[in-house]
Amino acid sequence: MKELDRKHTATLLRNASHVLILGHANPDGDCIGSMVALLLALKTMGIQATAWAVAPIPLKYRFMDSLFQKPDPASTNSWDLTVCLDTPCRSRLEVDPALIPSDVPMLCIDHHRISKDEFDYVYEDTSQSAVGCMLYELFCDLAVPLSREMAEALYAAVITDTGCFTNRNTDIRAFEISVELIKAGADPGTLAEYIYLSASVDQLRVLGEVLESLELLSDGRGALMYLSDATRRACMAESADTENFVNYARSIFGVQVAAMLIEAEDANHVRVSLRSKERSVNVSDFARQLGGGGHPCAAGVTAHAPLAEYLPEFRRELTAFIDSLPV
Ligand code: 5GP
Ligand code: MN
Repeated sequence: MKELDRKHTATLLRNASHVLILGHANPDGDCIGSMVALLLALKTMGIQATAWAVAPIPLKYRFMDSLFQKPDPASTNSWDLTVCLDTPCRSRLEVDPALIPSDVPMLCIDHHRISKDEFDYVYEDTSQSAVGCMLYELFCDLAVPLSREMAEALYAAVITDTGCFTNRNTDIRAFEISVELIKAGADPGTLAEYIYLSASVDQLRVLGEVLESLELLSDGRGALMYLSDATRRACMAESADTENFVNYARSIFGVQVAAMLIEAEDANHVRVSLRSKERSVNVSDFARQLGGGGHPCAAGVTAHAPLAEYLPEFRRELTAFIDSLPV
């Protein structure tokens, strides 16, 4: 593994001739926006690039979906670099790792702590609010002019990961980069409409069910919500419809740790989302205890059990974590 700084990452990209771009399972705005922006930047540089996505792009990010291709192992022979974005370990990749050619070097660009021995090259910067910010700076080094489409994709990345500039990771750099993206053609109102005003009726119905499940733990310092696959199906909602529901639990006064458990479509595993309001309540420590990871204020893990089986165990562990925090 070779750890790169921005300058050497730029050189690696400049010297590539055909790049395969990959992201994580259940891709969010930072993942999708970063994949699209890198694809467009490489094409502008005269480098061939392909972005793979397995599942349909969620409706709110659909304005970016035309550039994605379905994984096609038959087209692998010309790649000379794979780039994973917003995905710090191979197990989080959306594409089945068996489809990725093993003889092509893999670069990971991320603002999460990267599992470094899983990649050939690593460009990590945990001080950045979004991978979109890292790419913006990389494109400046590469002197790639920002098109409107690139600016929109990067802006979507920044607002998703900063929670519209409200999360603890929001810093001056995120605002400064956003100003440049707006100057390059990203329209904040239009993008907010795509991403935040595109709920379906089914999504609101499933939100109603999720809010019904709300439980407070440890004298109101914890909030837990959950959704079974059966309930989601009964509401006709898609899995992607539940993104960010955990924030309703986090929004409660006095709640320090919020958790949301969503049973997956095979009803055999559970996606856990964890949120806190301040870095000193580090939910990524708790996620790591359970085998997952993330950031201090936003973390997650996948549990391999049906919801009904996992919920009591999780409730116990979450309560113990909250009770271990200083009051
Ligand atoms: P979300 O709740 O949005 O799914 O995830 C929040 C954050 O937690 C993500 O940005 C990611 O950093 C981290 N995360 C979520 N699930 C996992 C997981 O299964 N493994 C690891 N290592 N990190 C995760
Ligand atoms: Mn991200």
